[in-house]
Amino acid sequence: MDLETMYTSFGISPQVMDFGNKIEESLKERFEAIDAMAEFNQLKVIKAMQDNRVSEAHFAATTGYGYNDLGRDTLERVFADVFRAESALVRPQLISGTHALHIALSGNLRPGDELLSPNGKPYDTLEEVIGIRESAGSLREYGVSYRQVELLPDGTFDFEKIAGAINEKTKIMTIQRSKGYATRPTFSVNQIGELVAFAKNIKPDLICLVDNCYGEFVDDIEPTQAGADMAVGSLIKNPGGGLAPIGGYIVGKKECIDRASYRLSAPGLGKEVGASLGLNQSFFQGLFLAPSVVAGALKGAVFAANIYERLGFCVVPNGSQERHDIIQSITFGTEEGVIAFCQGIQAAAPVDSYVVPEPWDMPGYDAPVIMAAGAFIQGASIELSADGPIKPPYAVYFQGGLTWHHAKLGILMSLQKVLDKGIVKL
Ligand SMILES: *Cc1c(COP(=O)(O)O)cnc(C)c1O
Repeated sequence: MDLETMYTSFGISPQVMDFGNKIEESLKERFEAIDAMAEFNQLKVIKAMQDNRVSEAHFAATTGYGYNDLGRDTLERVFADVFRAESALVRPQLISGTHALHIALSGNLRPGDELLSPNGKPYDTLEEVIGIRESAGSLREYGVSYRQVELLPDGTFDFEKIAGAINEKTKIMTIQRSKGYATRPTFSVNQIGELVAFAKNIKPDLICLVDNCYGEFVDDIEPTQAGADMAVGSLIKNPGGGLAPIGGYIVGKKECIDRASYRLSAPGLGKEVGASLGLNQSFFQGLFLAPSVVAGALKGAVFAANIYERLGFCVVPNGSQERHDIIQSITFGTEEGVIAFCQGIQAAAPVDSYVVPEPWDMPGYDAPVIMAAGAFIQGASIELSADGPIKPPYAVYFQGGLTWHHAKLGILMSLQKVLDKGIVKL
């Protein structure tokens, strides 16, 4: 077996390989800890599948209204068990993370209620859901007011201001676990648990919702085990394991999930309808693979952080920090750096590797954006992908990798391109 020749066939020089191998060697303990987490979460998923007697019959397709979809109902019980929640809504009809969040929020809020964000501005796409940016059909149009409390300069919750913001109208507090495309740190489940306990102490009937995107299976517990009433995410991120071709999930308290289901389908119908159209097997199998897929993505993120930190770039999280999501940012400080990195990631892809990504003026963004993604599922960011806006500080956000070895190839390809452009010296 000649691994070096294989890497050389991709255009990776011995110099880049040696550098990468030294970094990888230094990460042995980190990787062992990531594997141990995956082992625990793998068992958690298998146990939930066994306890719910998952069988081949559950993979059968339903059509039309989807009454008595045994596979769908079992999948939802498995999700509920994995998240230690009372109930779950796991559907291809939840078309994205944003949609799942919209359904969870709008299903549980009523005119006159107030929504509180304790982590400042939420994820971009939620601005229009909430009505922070003027938008037809927003919660604001339906008479739901909104308030946010900024994080403290060190990126932690401002408990005093949060206490001051909770009032008789406050119905839901929505907490975003992952930093997304911001520069603050990602919250651990324990940090979220502390905040939930604090807020419920002030207002016991406050509904605490966690935007769990990119966080699933990174820790050994999920936010629903730390007091959250609902956790919400996308199936083309972590919990779909790369196999789910569409979908979102909402897990949590039965009454919250029921109300969300009346919003997704119709009052009176709720969870009883919604055909699974033959997607159940991908959902079950994707969930089954998710813990080890997340482990591969985490190893890639840690590897990239250590490579670029060693080369003197600012990386968030840094090379040794504990991880609570799969996103890695690297600040190149130059347009050329962002472009070379993304072109390297693209060149390592199993799909569309021959395409050379270039920055373009994407609708809704105030600067050109470059995106690298050679994915089996369109837009799936559990697959190896990177993007960066072409504006200061010229940072690239990188995530995913269905296998560690693909993530490693992508990062070495990025390093090769960055090196070839003369941006770094090894
Ligand atoms: C991805 C993401 C969303 C939105 O999910 P989409 O599937 O892209 O609509 C919301 N919040 C966070 C933190 C995310 O990472």
